[in-house]
Amino acid sequence: LSIKGKLVTAERQKPVRMLGTVIDISEVKRDEIRKNDFIAMASHELKTPLTSIKSYIQVLAKKLAANNDAFVDNALSKANNQVNKMTDLIHGFLDLSKLESGKLQLKPELFDMNRLLGDCIAELLLSTYSHTIIFDNSHIVNVTGDKEKLGQVVGNFLSNAVKYSAKGTRITVNSTITDGLVTVAVTDQGVGIKLKDHKKVFHRFYRVDSEKIKNVSGFGIGLYLSAEIVQSHKGKIWVESTEGAGSTFYFSIPL
Ligand code: ADP
Repeated sequence: LSIKGKLVTAERQKPVRMLGTVIDISEVKRDEIRKNDFIAMASHELKTPLTSIKSYIQVLAKKLAANNDAFVDNALSKANNQVNKMTDLIHGFLDLSKLESGKLQLKPELFDMNRLLGDCIAELLLSTYSHTIIFDNSHIVNVTGDKEKLGQVVGNFLSNAVKYSAKGTRITVNSTITDGLVTVAVTDQGVGIKLKDHKKVFHRFYRVDSEKIKNVSGFGIGLYLSAEIVQSHKGKIWVESTEGAGSTFYFSIPL
């Protein structure tokens, strides 16, 4: 039940009346659970055929590699990229439904954050060489946290930096330690974000409504998931940005 209202009190705070509404929200909750279950089930069902399409593409790529046919190579590599995009999306939906049903559990371990940043950059470079990435990994940053999930946050910052900035521009990645916290920053020279949207971009399904990015695909769940992951590490996530002048996405967590 959801009870909203005002308690009317007499002298010495003694309650005399309650004015307000009582709403039965069990149906709303049931709807939420049904929706959540549907997303989980549909995403799960889509995973199997996608994995199979991906392996067929790989088999074809291997078989046809000897032919040196640029057209075929290009078509297969494009198909592979699209399959990877869909796979990421499905993983996002699965994470979302896990999160909303309270099943997103952390598996903390001790690891070097800079190594993780390096791995995430290497993974990004498997799918694109469109940007110049600048990263100084000369120091070790030992931190305890869920490496895989934090890697997802970094991966999300990086893929957004690529998506929302022009080819050939710079993306800078770094980590700093202050007062027992490690702060990771990913800076791009892209479209930037208006001040009024700085908080909203971390909301579920929120996408900035702008002409410049209307052709960029996405569902507005990456930063929402990132925020949940960072918050479950008792950390902070935020963005500094000016429209038209690039953005820096940050997260910080206790060491
Ligand atoms: P998606 O990119 O799939 O839409 P996200 O949750 O990752 O979802 O991002 C939410 C929104 O925040 C994006 O739709 C975009 O409008 C904005 N955004 C995220 N990263 C950047 C960035 N680096 N530069 C400009 N806008 C960004």
